[in-house]
Amino acid sequence: MSETQTALETASHSLFPTYARYPLALVKGEGSWLWDDKGNKYLDFMSGIAVTNLGHAPKRIKEALIKQLDELWHVSNLFQIPNQAEAAKLITDNSCADAVFFCNSGAEANEAAIKLARRYNQNVLNNGRCEIITFEQSFHGRTLATLTATGQAKVKEGFAPLPEGFKTIPLNDLAALRAAVSDKTAAVMLEMVQAEGGIHPVDAAYMKELAALCEREGILLIVDEIQTGMGRTGKLFAYEHYGIEPDIFTMAKGLGSGFPVGAMAAKEKLRDGFTAGTHGSTFGGTPIATAVVKATLEAIVGDGLPERAARQGDYLIAQLRGKLAGNAFVKEVRGLGLLVGIECAEPIADILNKAQERGLLAISAGPNVIRLLPNLLVTNEEIDTAVAILAELLEA
Ligand SMILES: *Cc1c(COP(=O)(O)O)cnc(C)c1O
Repeated sequence: MSETQTALETASHSLFPTYARYPLALVKGEGSWLWDDKGNKYLDFMSGIAVTNLGHAPKRIKEALIKQLDELWHVSNLFQIPNQAEAAKLITDNSCADAVFFCNSGAEANEAAIKLARRYNQNVLNNGRCEIITFEQSFHGRTLATLTATGQAKVKEGFAPLPEGFKTIPLNDLAALRAAVSDKTAAVMLEMVQAEGGIHPVDAAYMKELAALCEREGILLIVDEIQTGMGRTGKLFAYEHYGIEPDIFTMAKGLGSGFPVGAMAAKEKLRDGFTAGTHGSTFGGTPIATAVVKATLEAIVGDGLPERAARQGDYLIAQLRGKLAGNAFVKEVRGLGLLVGIECAEPIADILNKAQERGLLAISAGPNVIRLLPNLLVTNEEIDTAVAILAELLEA
């Protein structure tokens, strides 16, 4: 190893190279702002990929966390956990769901959804249905089942053999959906806005037809709200935009404001799909995790943050469209609430690097789309700063 290598570079060699990391070590965060180890300041328009929806180190959440750290960290799910029950009630009170299962990540939440859909069909309805229909360009996680559900070849490469019982079809294509459905179909699973796939909201008329078909055929509708949920799109959950109700939906990312936690929620009829001993997780819904979930939901719902995200998202999109009008490199600005994409004519990795040098952190959604995910409390002034930097870089 060269002598010029820093201690961090040396230590990093002990990690698997699973991420193409930026040469940037962020060490402090507050609200919309991050600082690196050299004291440089960054405006954060990626929020840890839609995780820090309340900004960095939000005071109320921090207080709830510290209070819980003083009382109790962990007990087994063999005991009553008041925070867990109360967090679940906050989810069911504010959604179409009636029962919640807590886990630790998005992939695990989707695993729980897939398992519940199968078990409900096979052990409650006794109809033997097992197939899950998912969509091209979707993203559902990195476990074997959820990468199989994911409609992107790059995520699956080298991991064969993959679990059986998944079909992937094009989105917004009713004929393809009708052709894919069979007497083996247990569930259809999708995101209301494909986020990793390039910021593509599902077509509203198609979604109504899809929901009606599921209802008619007794197929469960699973909505992956891991990135779109927790107020991000201008509603607490993105399915609310579509006038439909999923049988099952999943959460993670923003659910814990940065504390790792996931959850799967479902309607009453599915309760008996998961009886005692059929599914579980050692760390699922610990007193600490669910203290944070409670505080996060109370802040999002109590402070009307979905409505705020809708307003700020409209402002961000309007500013981008205004400043980027006539820019031949920019093909489209689209989004829902504060889940916003700028589709460009060519790859944008270099633009993201330059934005970073200018003090703005953003992320891609596929090679040609700049994805903007500011926190839900972002101000007009911060939006103006980000838009000015992006407009200048996209001009060049
Ligand atoms: C991030 C994400 C996941 C996976 O979540 P992990 O916590 O990384 O397992 C699944 N679905 C969607 C839509 C996501 O954005």
